[in-house]
Amino acid sequence: MIFKKHFLRKLPAVDRILLHPLLLPLEKALPRSILVQAVQELIEERRRGIIRAKNEDEAQKIDLSLDNIARDALRVVKAKLSPSLRRVINATGTVLHTNLGRAPLARAAMEMLQEIASAYCNLEYSLKEGHRGSRHEHVESILCNLTGAEAACVFNNNAATVYLALNTLAKEKEVIVARGELVEIGGSFRIPEVMKASGAQLVEVGTTNKTYLADYEQAITEKTALLLKVHTSNYRIIGFTADVSIRELAALGKEKGIPVMEDIGNGALVNLSGFGLPAEPLLSESINAGAALVTCSGDKLLGGPQAGIIVGEKEKVERIKKNQMARALRIDKLTLAALEATLRLYQEEGKALKEITVLRMLTLKPSELKQKAETIRAKLADLCAGTADFQCAENISYVGGGAMPQAELPSYTVFVSPYEISVGTLIERLHAGTPPVVARIENDKLVLDPRTLQPGEEEALINAVASALGENSTGAF
Ligand SMILES: *Cc1c(COP(=O)(O)O)cnc(C)c1O
Repeated sequence: MIFKKHFLRKLPAVDRILLHPLLLPLEKALPRSILVQAVQELIEERRRGIIRAKNEDEAQKIDLSLDNIARDALRVVKAKLSPSLRRVINATGTVLHTNLGRAPLARAAMEMLQEIASAYCNLEYSLKEGHRGSRHEHVESILCNLTGAEAACVFNNNAATVYLALNTLAKEKEVIVARGELVEIGGSFRIPEVMKASGAQLVEVGTTNKTYLADYEQAITEKTALLLKVHTSNYRIIGFTADVSIRELAALGKEKGIPVMEDIGNGALVNLSGFGLPAEPLLSESINAGAALVTCSGDKLLGGPQAGIIVGEKEKVERIKKNQMARALRIDKLTLAALEATLRLYQEEGKALKEITVLRMLTLKPSELKQKAETIRAKLADLCAGTADFQCAENISYVGGGAMPQAELPSYTVFVSPYEISVGTLIERLHAGTPPVVARIENDKLVLDPRTLQPGEEEALINAVASALGENSTGAF
């Protein structure tokens, strides 16, 4: 193992690397300790590489040059200094992309958020009466107007609202749910688990594909506190199926004196079926059908910030507001500001469709998408001639976010097939860019869907793709 000694001796000293022309200018720009630590880590990484090497050839492959270590150090330091949470360009076409933060806010919501963020506000102060108020009040009357409910309250997210409602109304009692509706959303929200955490006892009825009203009826005991209907937001049971509508369930509840709750998930406030989308249950329909409580998310089809909304009977909503855990799950003032502004846009349906980002993206016409895709393709073909093949064709985009799992939105996308590099490498470079671009791969081609681009992002997307294709293979940065 004598060769290892030879290579270990060649490891440069930290001080020599710090004097490299690439790093010297940084000494003024950032704390020296950050740079020193980065260089030490890179040397240590190479030292471990040498020790692990099985033979001289392997050790030889480890680059110990000052240039190489300095370049790596620059990259590491840049990454350390840039924020972790960053704006990205969503070119996937999936509108409610959970991993990309679901709904981008409407301008009005963003402006309200900014106004409230840097000042004091009447979050829990009644300006009319000059004493303590409730944070729910800021959105309660709008929610009641939009849904026809008697009362409303808001929390951190929909998982919180379901937990709080169950804990308030059904702790140590039974809740009846259809087997086909025991959903899991996003890997962590699972109805049976939330039920257990809330202290309520789950009573499953029916089978995976069929549940009848009589199944609920037969399961009712003196311990039954709630009949729960859960929207199967992210899957559909198709084929031979039967389920019970909220109207039928509410009628049964009324007859037996048991409240009925619906976890509707999406929180649709307008009907999008006129735009070729499947009809999602509306909050107002559920209230109208007789549900005592309805819960939903703020950042799915509703298009607002992450939040959970409960609308329904006043007596129950008031009890939920007083739950001991309500404080732990409460909505913060920034979210509330964005939610109120988003809800206000719904007071005029036309305005909501135009100004709420996710509604605007979902209702884009195929002809508009075609035009956008053609423009992007033409500019890329011009800018990156010789590096890739660029085509446009009809394609589909998805709603995402556990909404309308089967809905395929007709779209028109750009397909990029690079000549020199793999599509995987192209995607890696796009992720590493500024701003990062997230896109999908289909049939070994990069797909760019204009549906999810924000106004003005086309230019940035084109530049990002051009620079990723233009990078030479040694990986400039
Ligand atoms: C999305 C969803 C949830 C979870 O909502 P979050 O706001 O993500 O906590 C719960 N129930 C249903 C039916 C859903 O679709």
